[in-house]
Amino acid sequence: MEDLLREATERAIRYHAGLNARGVAPSSEAVNNLMRFRERFPQQPSDPQIVLTLLDEVGSPATMSSAGGRFFGFVTGGSLPAALAANWLAGAWDQNAFSFASSPAAVVLEEVALGWLIDALALPPECGGAFVTGATMANFTSLAAARNAVLGRFGWDVEAEGLFGAPEVKVVVGAEAHPTLLKALGMLGLGRKRLTTVPVDGQGRMRADALPALSKSEPTVVCIQAGNVNTGAFDPAVEVCAVAREAGAWVHVDGAFGLWAAASPGRAHLASGVAEADSWATDAHKWLNVPYDSGLAIVRHPESLRAAMSISAAYLPEGEVREPMQYTPEASRRARGVEVWAALRSLGREGLADLIERNCGYAARFAGGFKAAGYEVLNEVNLNQVLVSFGDEEATRRVVAQVQAEGACWCGGTVWQGRAAMRVSVSSWATTEEDVGRSMEAILRVASREAGKK
Ligand SMILES: *Cc1c(COP(=O)(O)O)cnc(C)c1O
Repeated sequence: MEDLLREATERAIRYHAGLNARGVAPSSEAVNNLMRFRERFPQQPSDPQIVLTLLDEVGSPATMSSAGGRFFGFVTGGSLPAALAANWLAGAWDQNAFSFASSPAAVVLEEVALGWLIDALALPPECGGAFVTGATMANFTSLAAARNAVLGRFGWDVEAEGLFGAPEVKVVVGAEAHPTLLKALGMLGLGRKRLTTVPVDGQGRMRADALPALSKSEPTVVCIQAGNVNTGAFDPAVEVCAVAREAGAWVHVDGAFGLWAAASPGRAHLASGVAEADSWATDAHKWLNVPYDSGLAIVRHPESLRAAMSISAAYLPEGEVREPMQYTPEASRRARGVEVWAALRSLGREGLADLIERNCGYAARFAGGFKAAGYEVLNEVNLNQVLVSFGDEEATRRVVAQVQAEGACWCGGTVWQGRAAMRVSVSSWATTEEDVGRSMEAILRVASREAGKK
């Protein structure tokens, strides 16, 4: 065990040291080489050393360098040193974080991390929460609590009785809701399509003036967004929460990455009103920069979350300690709270704010550079997302493909309200001034070469 762990460490250090020198996307040669994994299931055991060597030699070159500073795809984030190190140690611990009995350390760290998060994100102190795999499951978990509460008010126990025969639940979403939110609604039997959809403005924000009438006589859940995955824009939480409160509706916030704006004094205004909601979904593997997978469901009314997620009222009654399995969809699970704790413990309030600010500042630099070079930035860059067009759809697609192929950085393509764009998402602690300069230079060089071509 000892030699193997040491070797794994050395290989990981070498991998990290090499990130700056390699292309951000893996070479096609490295991807083709993955065929070496497609062998027949071995009959005989192998030395773990051989397994590790194969993994590093074939696997490492075929990874995306999302741990480095020049990956701007999707909305991801890297892994902070303290979080990665904690992940390794927690791997060695091999804890099952389902209960205090199975892992006191995992449970206490989760509880502390959850408290710090609620504090850092300026959410109500009475909130409960659950550590889940990502924002998709955080949306699911929060909305299960919502379903319990809004139907409970009409005397319906949805966990016991299901949805057949239940009062209809009205679900309101913005036209730009993230597809995973719709998936979560589908998994909960609330339907992906039987929704009241609110039109949005040019930034993808729900139009407050177009909110439907809400009624106290109908169980209602309103889903808003803090951070549109393309523009970074926030739905008008102040207005929505006021209307919803009046009607006794539950407001859920998908804040996968945008909720972190609340942790920075310079950006907190973007999230104003968000804390008035009833539940929030966010990702720690995005802007907090912890390893995958790590999402959080935070709920103002912990009893609704518990009612939705507990295996049964009789099973492991809640005692002095918070039993994670009473709040999560899973029973057995890894101790992902350990990394969240380590990230927050190492950053502190100021370090977290600085991470958010630095990324937003770099996004503004990208936007300024694109505009100065004569390209159109399609979104208001207030957060970490930049959408840029390099002319028509063809030209923009060519620039995206060529930037990815060149490898100095990696940005994805997207379509924003019918227009092709390159999306630059700055969400990693590892990104430096130099990374931004080098990436900017590469993108503009490719653009001036490709954008004019037909
Ligand atoms: C990324 C994202 C999700 C989905 O998160 P996963 O962690 O991939 O499940 C949901 N909503 C928004 C706004 C996102 O940005």
